[in-house]
Amino acid sequence: MTGPAVRVGAPGTLPGVVSRPTARRPEAAVTRVDPPPHALEPLPADVDLAGLGEGPKEECGVFGIFAPGEDVATLSFYGLYALQHRGQESAGIAVSDGRRIVVHKDMGLVNQVFQETSLAALEGDLAIGHTRYSTTGASSWANAQPQYLEVGGGGGLALGHNGNLVNTAELARLLEVPPGNDSELMAALLAREAGQSSMEDAIVRVAPQLKGAFSVMVMDERRLYAFRDPGGFRPLAVGRLPNGGWVVASETAALDIVGAITVRDVAPGELVVVDEDGLTSRHFADPTPSHCLFEWVYLARPDHRQDGASVYSVRRETGRVLAREAPVEADTVIPVPDSGTAAAAGYAQEAGLPYAEGLVKNRYVGRTFIEPSDTLRQLGIRLKLSPVREVIEGQRLVVVDDSIVRGNTSRQLVAMLRAAGAAEVHLRITSPPIKNPCYFGIDMATRAELIGADLSVEEICEFVGADTLHYVTLDGLIGATPQTRDRLCRACFDGEYPIAVPGEHEQLAQIKFDFTAAAGSSRDPDEVEAERVANAREGRTVE
Ligand code: SF4
Repeated sequence: MTGPAVRVGAPGTLPGVVSRPTARRPEAAVTRVDPPPHALEPLPADVDLAGLGEGPKEECGVFGIFAPGEDVATLSFYGLYALQHRGQESAGIAVSDGRRIVVHKDMGLVNQVFQETSLAALEGDLAIGHTRYSTTGASSWANAQPQYLEVGGGGGLALGHNGNLVNTAELARLLEVPPGNDSELMAALLAREAGQSSMEDAIVRVAPQLKGAFSVMVMDERRLYAFRDPGGFRPLAVGRLPNGGWVVASETAALDIVGAITVRDVAPGELVVVDEDGLTSRHFADPTPSHCLFEWVYLARPDHRQDGASVYSVRRETGRVLAREAPVEADTVIPVPDSGTAAAAGYAQEAGLPYAEGLVKNRYVGRTFIEPSDTLRQLGIRLKLSPVREVIEGQRLVVVDDSIVRGNTSRQLVAMLRAAGAAEVHLRITSPPIKNPCYFGIDMATRAELIGADLSVEEICEFVGADTLHYVTLDGLIGATPQTRDRLCRACFDGEYPIAVPGEHEQLAQIKFDFTAAAGSSRDPDEVEAERVANAREGRTVE
């Protein structure tokens, strides 16, 4: 018979190691290690482990270059490297030597898809590149970009798209094809039109028919075309190389890395065309600016510049705003790297508190297709972030993060900080609560999964286990950007979609959310659910 577990405290034994006495079979003694005092709860089975510790995901990054005499494929490779954060599922480059277009694309990170030999085979004067994260269309080779299509009158086109269209059903009807991937439909429409006119005219005719977010790079054998939707949801910037070549990219960091000087943003509703005669510009629609507010919070790199300001300076100012909106007695301010870093520095400066790096990002734990085991689920956030005990132990911490989407990551983070000895954890978030899904190219999760859609800030605080929680106000965040409220898309925060989204109203009726129960809320989950369904039937957004 096996007796009860006994803690072994003799000198030389590891603390926390217990052994079960097995008098009859001592050779078979079993030892096990106690869970640490603040063991993290295993994550639910439906949590995407690969994405844990990361916020919402961009759909894509685009890059284009026209530079005869330069190694355009290798420059595109480095440009895509700088845009890797915008998409990590597939990458591709299309190159033209003036006579034909060659495309190389595959699943994986930029440095997995391209090697020296594959780049050497891509010779030409102009190129476009793409990194993809799929929010519509399967994550598959066929959906990797650039997409290549033959054009009716001869030749071909390659296309890379960042954003998301909301009228794919309408476009599919125009083409008389089944609804499908938005980028494919866009390429098919352009190929059809370009068979009857120049590519430039085809874009000017097709672009106004597209609804939604689109920063697009197109090339034929001799020209580079870049255009941006009238709202300018996703960024797109033009740069000049020292030898006179032109570069266009999602973020200015991709211009910097290839040695280009940033010239300007591509304006909302503008098409720029680059060929051997230089750069020309046409406007296919009047601008109706609705730049994505979340680019400033999380999506873009801190060294990206847009609308005359750097993302870094906006994030730092947001931290200062947070410190004024929600001061707290604390010892140290730490960021959740990387997007919380600048804001934490701003908070610390404004509050007169020390700033320290209490969390280290495990940078090379990238997206993995390994099936998450129970052990990995138990590790959870530790796969992505490691606590620095010397910074954390005994401290009343202000922890600055960019957003809370489903709440699981924050809950694990707080538990991990407490396990590392934090005396108090005060969460400060640099965006308002995310209450609505994004239809313009960001994978936010469905409304039913968004913790901010249903719970109050107090309930979320309880769910994640923090001592206090404060989200920056929408006015505070907007005030930190160089834009005015009416020129920004804020739909995921306030539900005001700048473009009507087909099916959005119906989706409200499908809300189902059970964080209330998980958080141990005093409200009866059935009562919450009944209220939610009643509200949805009446067309009210649930607060
Ligand atoms: S809904 Fe949110 S994430 Fe999407 S474009 Fe608007 S502000 Fe950006």
